Amino acid sequence: MTNQECALNCGRQVPDSSYICPPCGTTTTRLLQSVQDELIEGPPRRVIPGLATDLDTAITRETNFGTGGSASGETPVLFNTSASEARTVLLSALATWTALIAEQRGLPHPAYLLRDLAAFLEHQVTWLRAQAAGAEALDEITAALRNATRVIDRPADRKYAGPCTTPDCDGEFIAYDQARLAHCRDCTATVELTARQDELLERANDMLLTAPQLEKALGGLGTEVRAKRIHEWCARDRLTNRGTPDRPMYRVGDVRHLAALAAARKGKAVA
Ligand SMILES: [Zn+2]
Ligand SMILES: [Zn+2]
Repeated sequence: MTNQECALNCGRQVPDSSYICPPCGTTTTRLLQSVQDELIEGPPRRVIPGLATDLDTAITRETNFGTGGSASGETPVLFNTSASEARTVLLSALATWTALIAEQRGLPHPAYLLRDLAAFLEHQVTWLRAQAAGAEALDEITAALRNATRVIDRPADRKYAGPCTTPDCDGEFIAYDQARLAHCRDCTATVELTARQDELLERANDMLLTAPQLEKALGGLGTEVRAKRIHEWCARDRLTNRGTPDRPMYRVGDVRHLAALAAARKGKAVA
């Protein structure tokens, strides 16, 4: 059999007789692994909660506090599914494919629990890559895992640190709580958060974003600047609107520069 393109349309060639390329299989494997809690050897030793734990936590929060809009009103709504819905969709996707595979391969069916189903499927990825229906399975499993990951990705808990730098990994670096290291959910790569943030900011300087996007993006990278403030800078001609009058967009580098000036002025007084 000659090489063919990956059935998941990632654009990569499949080097063996499978339908799906190894990196796409690895992406699904890593996402399935991310369901489990993970022990990070220190120092300090810590347990990174897996997707299953995070979903449970988020569902508890929803039950306690509801899923209504944010208190400030200006924070953009980033997702419109609740954690409990995402969990139901994920459980159903994993259970459906587990049942099909277990029956076809004559394997014992694992318990109907996220962790058990994910652990079972993790070992079926190589087999799935070689099946004609494997693309549908991997596509659905990956989509359900990514959706659930996004739903529980609360900005207050995590910091985004950009796309993973591991070759052929399609994951993203996320830092947890006050962690010094950002961690890719799809592979085991970690990166020093501050170094990575500086690098990302340098690369992001020419990007155009709206004021609320800037507030969120720069906030996640350690620079506090309010959307209202950004509009004020523009109104006072200190900042150029590079979008339209209806949808003002600003250059990241320009806003960083003004934010740094403001922080330097204020910082001296506060410190
Ligand atoms: Zn692929
Ligand atoms: Zn990665």
